[in-house]
Amino acid sequence: CGVFGVIGVTDASNFVALGLHALQHRGQEAGGIVCHRPDHGFNSARRFGYVRDNFTSQDVMETLPGPLAIGHVRYSTTGSKGSTAIRDVQPFFGEFSMGGAALAHNGNITNADALRRELIERGSIFQSSSDSECIIHLMARSLQKDIPDRMEDALRRVEGAFSVVAMTRTKLIGVRDPLGVRPLVLGKVADGWCLSSETCALDIIGAEFVREVEPGEMVVITDQGVDSRFPFRRRNSRFCIFEHVYFSRPDSIIGGRSVYETRRQIGVELAREAPVEADLVCPVPDSGTPAAIGFSQESGIPYAMGIIRNQYMGRTFIEPTEQIRNMGVRLKLNVNRALIKGKRVILVDDSVVRGTTSRKIKEMILDAGAAEVHFRIASPPTAWPCFYGVDTPQREKLLAATMSEEEMREHLAVDSLKFISLDGLYRAVGEAEGRKDDCPQFCDACFSGEYPVEPSDMIEKGFEL
Ligand code: 5GP
Ligand code: SF4
Ligand code: MG
Repeated sequence: CGVFGVIGVTDASNFVALGLHALQHRGQEAGGIVCHRPDHGFNSARRFGYVRDNFTSQDVMETLPGPLAIGHVRYSTTGSKGSTAIRDVQPFFGEFSMGGAALAHNGNITNADALRRELIERGSIFQSSSDSECIIHLMARSLQKDIPDRMEDALRRVEGAFSVVAMTRTKLIGVRDPLGVRPLVLGKVADGWCLSSETCALDIIGAEFVREVEPGEMVVITDQGVDSRFPFRRRNSRFCIFEHVYFSRPDSIIGGRSVYETRRQIGVELAREAPVEADLVCPVPDSGTPAAIGFSQESGIPYAMGIIRNQYMGRTFIEPTEQIRNMGVRLKLNVNRALIKGKRVILVDDSVVRGTTSRKIKEMILDAGAAEVHFRIASPPTAWPCFYGVDTPQREKLLAATMSEEEMREHLAVDSLKFISLDGLYRAVGEAEGRKDDCPQFCDACFSGEYPVEPSDMIEKGFEL
């Protein structure tokens, strides 16, 4: 998901709509905005679909006045999966004795089932099936006198990954979980401030990047400025390495590094680790593009657009059901036949999850007369599900969970298949020494199976580590 918030500008909702539009790659199922103006109170709008179709018309934006607003773009990882209900669309809102508060969450709460059970037993009435709603109910039960303190209380009970943007009548609040699994940055816009999942959304509103919200930090922003506190026990940060590989936009900067440059560097590492003779390096667009450029530069094999993407389709994996996903590949990608015929082709993609994309693409490209097909993948084999806010399927459906690399190659029926090593990936992300196995610098659980936060709800449901 993507979160965005603004304080201290005229018509903050317009800024939020633009910010969410720039974060649309983080979630396409639905979006929502909550805002506040002293003489209008809180207002909100929640809609299915793209930001550009919902939050651009004057009719809607007129109903969202005021100098303070937050928003959320959703893709479901928990809750009613595959059939998002409007009641699951964030931001969530709560009315407390000291006033209202709205909250938007990116990540996933790993003890949400246990919390929900406990809260319901104690009288909470849940409105949605979303894990994030627990935070509102925990806040309602806190005895603290102001809303940031109640949020602290609530979030200390929450386990897992969370980057939260919240607001009261006068405050914009941002928090990251102690490991800082999901991103959140602070920006300055005119006389106001903003919070965003990624820096690409600062650019769109002409905001200046100030700094990242730190892992375990809460920032409380008012017209007096930014106040910072650290409510949690200090831990070593474990940012999601997959944000660098796939999830974030390539024009974003994370931890001072260009995401594009990291992806290009992954391609360079891949070309060194797994060279192969071929005529063309082609990306599986768009997610494989920077790595393919790096692979081509390092190997000297020409880069070409062997697969063309229909620009009017979203990301395939975000389509919730398997049937739609299966069609998705053909709706979205087509082979550039004239270029491919008779060629030995290296295809570079960011990841193999179920293997659906790679299989279809291989068929399409052989169909078009390719002489050889070599897959190079910009991440290690995805052998474990993510429980921290990226939608990977159950373990059994992950190709790499049940097959060795050679079995996957046979299954995909390609001439060769190579994944970047975990150390190679760490080097590409700027860790010259590779992965420190005794204290890894990132979360890489979907590749290593080492979960930095125990997925307690899943373990209760029978998931085995
Ligand atoms: P597959 O077709 O192997 O299931 O999915 C791989 C494709 O989905 C890749 O091209 C990649 O761009 C995209 N993808 C990336 N991350 C994820 C993820 O976390 N989950 C899923 N299902 N697909 C992803
Ligand atoms: Fe990111 Fe993978 Fe960790 Fe999930 S499991 S947070 S996708 S690195
Ligand atoms: Mg892709």
